[in-house]
Amino acid sequence: MPFVDGQWLDQQNPQSFPVIDPTTEKTLTGVAETGDAGVDCAVSAARRALDTGSWGRLDGAARGQLLNMLADLIEQRAEDFADLECLDVGKPAIEPRVIDLPQTIATLRHFAGWADKIEGRTIPTPGHMGQPTLSYTVRQPIGVVAAITPWNSPTMIGSWKLAPALAAGCPVILKPPEDAPLTSLLLAELVVQAGFPAGALAVLPGRGATTGTALVQHPGVDKISFTGSPETGQIVAAAAARGFRPTTLELGGKSPQIVFADADLEAAADGVALGVFANQGEVCAAGSRILVDRSVHDEFVELLANRAGKVVVGDPFEPGTTMGALINAKQRARVQGYIDRGREEGAHPVIGGGRSEHDVGYFVEPTLFTAATNEMTIAREEIFGPVGAIIAFDDVDRAVAIANDSRYALAATVWTRELSRAHDIARRIQAGAVAINGWSPLDPRLPWGGSKHSGLGRELGRAGIDENTEEKTITIVL
Ligand code: ADP
Repeated sequence: MPFVDGQWLDQQNPQSFPVIDPTTEKTLTGVAETGDAGVDCAVSAARRALDTGSWGRLDGAARGQLLNMLADLIEQRAEDFADLECLDVGKPAIEPRVIDLPQTIATLRHFAGWADKIEGRTIPTPGHMGQPTLSYTVRQPIGVVAAITPWNSPTMIGSWKLAPALAAGCPVILKPPEDAPLTSLLLAELVVQAGFPAGALAVLPGRGATTGTALVQHPGVDKISFTGSPETGQIVAAAAARGFRPTTLELGGKSPQIVFADADLEAAADGVALGVFANQGEVCAAGSRILVDRSVHDEFVELLANRAGKVVVGDPFEPGTTMGALINAKQRARVQGYIDRGREEGAHPVIGGGRSEHDVGYFVEPTLFTAATNEMTIAREEIFGPVGAIIAFDDVDRAVAIANDSRYALAATVWTRELSRAHDIARRIQAGAVAINGWSPLDPRLPWGGSKHSGLGRELGRAGIDENTEEKTITIVL
C-alpha cells in the first residue's frame, strides 16, 4: 500500500497487482496500487512538508544526519534488502550483496555529506546606474521531486534519485516499478525509523499506466527523475513539458565494448563478459556491442566464449549461480525474439542461442553472436538480456565510427594498453561515461547519464545537487 505523509495510506477499494517471483513464476504477494486520490494526497503532503512543514525548515546538517541514519538502518537490514531484491528481480544472490546494497548505502552517505555544503557564489559586476552592488546566488530546493524507477536495480537506482534530492531539501515521491516494488516498501519503513519528518518521502506502488501517469501529470510535481525505456521516457518528457518542468531521464543504451589488439585479452574477456552478462544483461549500461580488432578476433572470441560457458544459470539463491531469471514472461519473449532475429539476419551464435533448459522461470541462455554487423537488429536495439553481438573492425577510425553509429550514447568501454589511444578514443566516443580497461565503475561521486536516446541530464556527484536545486541571483544596490 502507499506510504504517504509518514504513514501507510488506507485507500477505499484499492486495485491490487501481483508481484511474481521470476524464478518460480509464482505470485509472491499482491500490492495495493496507489490510485489518483493517493497520488494527490502524496503531492499535497510533499508540498506541505516543503512550504510550511518541518522538513522545509531543516538545515543541511540535519538533513545530512537523517540520510546517514537511513544509510545505517539499510546497512543493518542489508540481508533482508538483498533477499527481497533477489526474489523480486531474479538476480543472483551475490549481486545485491556486492553491488546494489553497498552502492545504495554509499550513495546515501555521499549525499549526506553534500547536504550542508550546498553553496552559492558571489559575482562581481560593474554595479547599477553608477552605484556599487553586491550580487550573490543561493541554491534552493527545486521543489517536489517525482522519482520513477525501473525493475532491474530498484534499490540502488532509487537511492540515486532520492539521496541527492533529499540532500538538496526536496521532498521526494518515489514510484517503484510494478515488477519489483518490495525493497522500496521496506525502505518506507526505515524512513520512519530514521526520523524523517512526514511528507519528506512518499512511496507509491502502482503500475506505470495508472500511478505513474497520475504522478507525472500532477501539476504539484516540480521535477521528474525517470529511469526506464526511451518509449516511456518520451511520454514522461511530454507530460513534463506541460508546465516546463525539468526532467532527468536515463533511458538505457547499446553500449560498445571495444577491444584492441594490444589489450590484455584475458582481462578484456573477463571485463567484457561482466559487461554483457551481469544482472542477466538487464543493465542500462550493458556492453552489448562487442567491437573486436579483426587481428585478434578469433582468439578473443574463444576467450570470451570460454567465460560465457562458465556462466551458471539457475535459482538465484543456489550458491554458485551467476545468472538468474529475466524479470517476466514478456521480457523473456522479447529477448528470445531478438536471439531468433540475430540468427535470421545472419549472425552466428558461438554460445547459447537456444531455448533455456529450465521449464519453469523466465530463464534464457547467455548468448554471443559472431559475424554480426552494426546494421543488424541485435546491434541496434537495446535487448536488456544476456545477448552480445561481436563485430570485427579493422582500424581505430572504423571502431569509433561503429561505436557512434547508434541512437544511444550512455556508456562505453575501451580495452587497450596504449595510453594516447585510450585518451583519444575516450574524447571521440559519444557516451556519458567511458571506461578504459574496465567496466564503468559505479560510484556516487561520478556523474551518470547519457545523451541522444539515452536521455537527458546527469545523476550523482555534484550534478545530483545541481539538478535538484535552482540557482537564485540576489543583488543589493549598496
Ligand atoms: P518496462 O516497460 O521495461 O517496464 P518502463 O520504462 O515502461 O520499462 O518502466 C520504467 C518505470 O516507468 C516503471 O516504474 C513503470 O511503472 C513506469 N512507467 C511506465 N509507464 C509510465 C507512464 N506512462 N508514466 C509514468 N511512469 C510510467
